[in-house]
Amino acid sequence: MRRKFVAGNWKMNTNRATAIELAKTVAAGAGTVGARVAVCPPAVYLEAVAAVLAGSRVELGGQNAYLTNAGAFTGENSPAMLKDIGCGLVILGHSERRQFFGETDESVSKKAKIALENGLEPIVCVGETLQERQAGKTFEVLRTQILGSLQSIDAPNLSRVVIAYEPVWAIGTGVNATPDQAQEAHAFLRGLIAEKYGLSLSQNLVILYGGSVKADNAATLFGQPDVDGGLVGGAALDGKGFLQIVAAGA
Ligand code: PEP
Repeated sequence: MRRKFVAGNWKMNTNRATAIELAKTVAAGAGTVGARVAVCPPAVYLEAVAAVLAGSRVELGGQNAYLTNAGAFTGENSPAMLKDIGCGLVILGHSERRQFFGETDESVSKKAKIALENGLEPIVCVGETLQERQAGKTFEVLRTQILGSLQSIDAPNLSRVVIAYEPVWAIGTGVNATPDQAQEAHAFLRGLIAEKYGLSLSQNLVILYGGSVKADNAATLFGQPDVDGGLVGGAALDGKGFLQIVAAGA
């Protein structure tokens, strides 16, 4: 039985004070039961947010990590560093990183492997662009991305991986995938995982939907049989709205 999971991706937003305020709202409102919940603040505020979340059930994640643990890689943060300051999760291969920072399926897969070795649960993002969808290439793109992004991950480790299906056309646009579109893509991804890793692992794999999730569409999206919760961007910056989305997963 998969548990619903809602993670907030704050992207490059907030400042120290607003990050702490937002984390306080989420920690206080998350209570003690319900869907699994996490926030992913900018790296420079992770430690301040970790202090706020201490003692709450809200988990902490990074938005990216490098593919090695130390060395001459100016500007990067390693998985070991994220773990060291209290992260249990890390988003990898977000479409913005693929689009603006040259992330590839191969780099995502290497990053996922080392993240797992350091005790971090990767949230691996995949999703097609509008042009790809309109050209009828959605499934082809998803197949290439998911198999490529998991190429370094063996079956025992897959149980510690979360997938996020994030159609690029739905991210930050206010146009979410319909529940049917989300279900179709999630079922397809789960089917691919079943082919590669076996039915049992595929049935236990948590697949989040991301792309303009809001309080008023979360329950319908999360109600789809293969949609196990959401990766939430814009709506995660409003603490009360984010908590409503978390509640939609309960
Ligand atoms: C995201 O960035 O992962 C995301 C889903 O953004 P939004 O919710 O704003 O569409």
